[in-house]
Amino acid sequence: EDSEASGDTGSRIMVFVRLRPMGKKEEAGSRRCVRIANRRDVYLTEFASETDYLRLKRVRGRHFCFDAAFPESTSQQEVYLTTTTELVEGVLRGRNGTVFCYGATGAGKTYTMLGTLENPGVMVLAIKDLFSKIRQRSFNGSYSLLLSYLEVYNETVRDLLSPGRPLVLREDKQGTIAAGLTQYRAYSTDEVMQLLQQGNRNRTTEPTRVNETSSRSHAILQIITEYQVKDSLNVVTRVGKLSLIDLAGSERALATDLRTQRSIEGANINRSLLALSSCINALVEGKRHIPYRNSKLTQLLKDSLGGPCNTVMIANISPGHFSFSETQNTLHWADRAK
Ligand code: ADP
Ligand code: MG
Repeated sequence: EDSEASGDTGSRIMVFVRLRPMGKKEEAGSRRCVRIANRRDVYLTEFASETDYLRLKRVRGRHFCFDAAFPESTSQQEVYLTTTTELVEGVLRGRNGTVFCYGATGAGKTYTMLGTLENPGVMVLAIKDLFSKIRQRSFNGSYSLLLSYLEVYNETVRDLLSPGRPLVLREDKQGTIAAGLTQYRAYSTDEVMQLLQQGNRNRTTEPTRVNETSSRSHAILQIITEYQVKDSLNVVTRVGKLSLIDLAGSERALATDLRTQRSIEGANINRSLLALSSCINALVEGKRHIPYRNSKLTQLLKDSLGGPCNTVMIANISPGHFSFSETQNTLHWADRAK
C-alpha cells in the first residue's frame, strides 16, 4: 500500500526529554537537580548536595517517565535516531511529521535542532537522511527537496531565508500557507547547514542584546519531499512534509509593566505557546475540535499536527538547581503532552 495514511488517521505524540551538560561557568556554582536513569526515567529534586540527593530523592523528589530521556552524554546522532528517523520514514510514505523542541532559554533547543558545524542537530541530520533514502528509493532518479524556514515573532511571520516584510498567512485546501515564502530547492546536505545558520542569524534579536536570538522567536523549518516510486504497474508520486520547530523560550514572561513593548511581546509568545499547548492537549485527549486558529504558530502547523501525521516533542532541560523551577515547568508540560 502506498499511503500509510489511509485508514489510520489517529495522531500520536512521542515525548522525549534531553538534559544538556553543565556549562563551564555553571559547574563552579550550581548543583545538579536532575538525574536520568534507564534512558527513560527523570528524577527532579530540589535538594542540593550529592548525599542529600541520594538520601532524599525517594522521599521528596519527583519522578517522570517518557518515551526516552537523554542524559548529558547523548550524541546528536543518537537523539536524531531515537526521535526523528521514524518520522522521516513516515514522511517518505506521505505521512507528515513534526518535531518540536520545547524548553526554557538556555536549555539546549537550538543546539538540539540546529547544532553546530561539528555536531549538526536534528534539522541537518534529517535532511541528510532524507537525501540518502530518497536517492535509494527514487524509481527514476528524479526527486525534489524544498526547504522553507520562517519565524513567528510577536505574532508576525517572517521569511528567514529571505528577510523582508512580514508574510501574510492564507488558507487553502492543503492548509495554511505563508504567501511569498521562499521555497529553497536543496541539492546537497553540505549547503544546508550554512543556509540554516544564516537563517538563524536572521531571527529577531532583542534590542538590548543584538547578537542573541530573541527568546520570543519561534523558528519553523519545513521540508517538502517529492519523489517517484514504481508499485507493480504504476509510477506513483510521493509527497511528504517534515516540520522541525525551535520554539520560543518557555519561561514565563515577566509581567512587570503591561504598557512596555517587552511585555506585549511576552504576552504574544505566551499566546503562541499557549495555543500550541491547547492544541496538543486537545489532540492527546482525542477531542474533535482542535483550536488551531488561536495563533500564527498553530495556524501554520494545522496540517502537521493531528490528522494523519506523527508528532514528536523534545523537552530540553538544564541540569543546575538555578534552573529548578523552569525545569519543573518543562517536565510538567511534557508530562501532559504524553
Ligand atoms: P536554547 O536554544 O534553548 O536557548 P541553546 O541551544 O542555545 O539553548 O543552548 C545553550 C548553550 O548550551 C549553548 O552554548 C549550547 O551550545 C550549549 N548546549 C546545549 N545543549 C548542549 C549539548 N547537548 N551538548 C553541548 N552543549 C550544549
Ligand atoms: Mg535558541
